[in-house]
Amino acid sequence: MTDKDPLTKQIQTILEQIHFYSTHGDAEAIARHFLKAVQNHTIADSRDLLAWCFKTFGREDTEHVVKALTAWPCPVCKKGFEQCDLCDGSGRSGPDMLCETCMGLAVIHCRFCGGSGLSALESLPSGLRLTVVGTRAKLAAKRIRVVQSELNGLSHEPKTANSKSKPSKTLLILNVLLSRLEGCLDEIKRMGPIHRRYKFLLGQIAA
Ligand SMILES: [Zn+2]
Ligand SMILES: [Zn+2]
Repeated sequence: MTDKDPLTKQIQTILEQIHFYSTHGDAEAIARHFLKAVQNHTIADSRDLLAWCFKTFGREDTEHVVKALTAWPCPVCKKGFEQCDLCDGSGRSGPDMLCETCMGLAVIHCRFCGGSGLSALESLPSGLRLTVVGTRAKLAAKRIRVVQSELNGLSHEPKTANSKSKPSKTLLILNVLLSRLEGCLDEIKRMGPIHRRYKFLLGQIAA
């Protein structure tokens, strides 16, 4: 590697950045640097992108990249929600009336990401999209099972003033997770028959 080879030098720089932020557990910085490098064509987005990452970054840092893109958030909202504009986030439409739009929750699902809280899959490099879809679907399915068991636990708990708001919050979280699964399903359907091997994901999600 010499200074005469600018692209290789740029790739060396991104490689060092990815490794540095992986070591420091900074997923936000990993995704930001990686996406920027794809955007300015330092890294070529192709069908072989995952294989290229393994070869260039090594297994561990590639896993960090996939993880970071999996969690890359929606640029508009906070975890899938935005303030209900009808009640200005108060949850009430009058002194004794709950806001009908947000059912008193003060927030509604983000209209930009459909409530998933995550970046649109189309905004991610096409060469890694399938891997990200698989990881997002797996994570969402896993968390849905946790939330389900929490809801089961709540129904057996004795009622206290404190536990009143718990089911609503849990349902909000469940909605976010379902919205993530829905996004993954849409993407898998959109990818079409070439990705038949990922049909098992559909089965897992439907189960
Ligand atoms: Zn409202
Ligand atoms: Zn959003």
